[in-house]
Amino acid sequence: MVNQILKDMDYFLLTKREALLYNVALCTKYPWLVPKDVPEYDYTWSMLDGMPIGWRKAFGIEMCEEIQQVYETLSPEIKKEFCILDLKEKFGELVIYFYPVVDEIEKISRKYEKLSTTVCQFCGAPATNVSQGWIGYWCDAHARKDSKPLK
Ligand SMILES: [Zn+2]
Repeated sequence: MVNQILKDMDYFLLTKREALLYNVALCTKYPWLVPKDVPEYDYTWSMLDGMPIGWRKAFGIEMCEEIQQVYETLSPEIKKEFCILDLKEKFGELVIYFYPVVDEIEKISRKYEKLSTTVCQFCGAPATNVSQGWIGYWCDAHARKDSKPLK
């Protein structure tokens, strides 16, 4: 279900109920996507929501799958603590902070942070432009007016 929905529709177009069902499935598969310290957490969102839809379509689940493979090898104590402190777009680039720091997972997130600057954050197509004032990486169709072609 998780992969199916992301291929067929935009996550951000789901109704609240569809998003809830989707996030229950997503967080069952990747428990570290559950936000920490949110007492009234209701599964209408997950930490992955901090990722722009274009990146989410292009590599979101692929990234979760790679992290999950390492997560499964962690000790029960670390697994219990392991979570995302922050996941967002900053200066056009994906930024993820995990707690606690696990070297192998840091390597994976660095890889996807780097990859994010090559993918249009709006649609997931290869990025061909970089905007100047508000830095972002975009395909030709979604390039902002102040964009310059990527070399
Ligand atoms: Zn685009």
